[in-house]
Amino acid sequence: MTDWSICRCRREHATSRGFLRCKYPAAKWITGTGDWTLVAWCGPAATFTLWPTYSEASDRDSVLYATGCGTYCRGKHEVIHINRTKETA
Ligand SMILES: [Zn+2]
Ligand SMILES: [Zn+2]
Repeated sequence: MTDWSICRCRREHATSRGFLRCKYPAAKWITGTGDWTLVAWCGPAATFTLWPTYSEASDRDSVLYATGCGTYCRGKHEVIHINRTKETA
């Protein structure tokens, strides 16, 4: 399980989406809401879908899991917990 807690900017972000945009500006797109993200590293740029719970982010039967990655898909998907509350160091 990967846990992302500290953004390099050291600022607090109001949403996980803002956190991802700041921490990983090369992302192709970021969608959804929540502190769990399903990352697809398959294509030339990573894509992120956000979910409120781990079980939803890791649900391999979900429509977004199956289709969210597109034609480049090589199955390189990873669930990451965004732990913004620790972003105080
Ligand atoms: Zn930041
Ligand atoms: Zn994929």
